[in-house]
Amino acid sequence: MDENKLKFNSKVIHGGQQPDKAYGAVAAPIYQTSTFAQSSPGQNQGYEYSRVSNPTRTALENALISIEDGTFAMAFASGVAAIDAVLRLLNAGDEVIVINDLYGGSYRLFTKVFERYNIVFHFVSMDEVSNIEKCISSKTKLVWIETPTNPLLTIVDIKMIAQITKKNNLLLAVDNTFASPYLQQPLNLGADIVMHSVSKYISGHSDVILGAVIVNDKEIADKLFFIQKSTGAIAGPMDSFLALRGLKTLHVRMQRHCENATTIAHYLRNNDKVEKVYWPGFESHPNHKIAKKQMRDFGGVISFVPKGGNYNDAVKIVETLKLFALADSLGGVESLVGHPASMSHGSIPKEEREKVGIVDGLIRLSVGIEDVEDLIVDLDKALKIV
Ligand SMILES: *Cc1c(COP(=O)(O)O)cnc(C)c1O
Repeated sequence: MDENKLKFNSKVIHGGQQPDKAYGAVAAPIYQTSTFAQSSPGQNQGYEYSRVSNPTRTALENALISIEDGTFAMAFASGVAAIDAVLRLLNAGDEVIVINDLYGGSYRLFTKVFERYNIVFHFVSMDEVSNIEKCISSKTKLVWIETPTNPLLTIVDIKMIAQITKKNNLLLAVDNTFASPYLQQPLNLGADIVMHSVSKYISGHSDVILGAVIVNDKEIADKLFFIQKSTGAIAGPMDSFLALRGLKTLHVRMQRHCENATTIAHYLRNNDKVEKVYWPGFESHPNHKIAKKQMRDFGGVISFVPKGGNYNDAVKIVETLKLFALADSLGGVESLVGHPASMSHGSIPKEEREKVGIVDGLIRLSVGIEDVEDLIVDLDKALKIV
């Protein structure tokens, strides 16, 4: 069977997977071992030490390659460890152009860690691709984007940005965490590097922290493999197993996340206690056309500002919600709610935050796959409070 001919849902289940060589186990066994016996020095069965590689991690990496339509993958101990590895492709003095509406942890890693090693970051709005071109110098090496962004769900045109990066000989890296490969596959749109916080939609059950990078180019892959084994932030066998187990239902979960989010976005828009709803499925969303062209559906995350939009009301609402657990993270089967100004984006200075629209009243929902009617009852009760 030519695996490349499989459609997405079949790839999620079968892509890159074979029954285990030892006993034919259908589920990838957890090879909880640090090392592998050699018959003679240097003679092994493909594995020597688990920091370098481990069969359970390989099984996950092969599945990730398949669903992102890539060629090489590396699984890391966390999403930020995956980002860290990509940034280590650079040298001191190199410059990076970054989308300004960025995951808080990425912002912290770039500005508080890598700036100390003389990597220079330019944060720009990418609504206009000319903003990127204006920042390009001979020192620019990488463009880093997220789409949809967190938490304002801005969508940028990956294909169009890839044309600019190709023309200028830059790498384009896409944090594809919010979309997941079910909604978009950035390598097919011209990106060089796809990064995931696998902790979110791909694992999908809020029970593992894991990250990944997927690429097509062998030279970039070899550098990343070298960085991975040299710096050591690898995904362990148990976590790789959990991520792989979760991954196999990505398509059915995403379908329901998107359906439920569609219903809730419309409910919120029609609620007179709500001032503003951010969701790329609305025709009035500034990037709706790109979202429609680039993504299969509009995703499971919605942000909104209650009427009046003040800090205390937002806190009251997130405290009152019951089915939506108040917690960092997203992409699990259970619905979660977050308050970006005090939680995920707390490390970004208030002026910086508000410049891009992350106001004190903003609330972010990760819509789960429960019965949507129950989720709406929960929201209705909480919104009555303000
Ligand atoms: C969670 C997240 C990360 C970081 O991933 P971890 O697995 O928590 O280290 C990076 N980017 C985005 C968009 C995220 O949501």
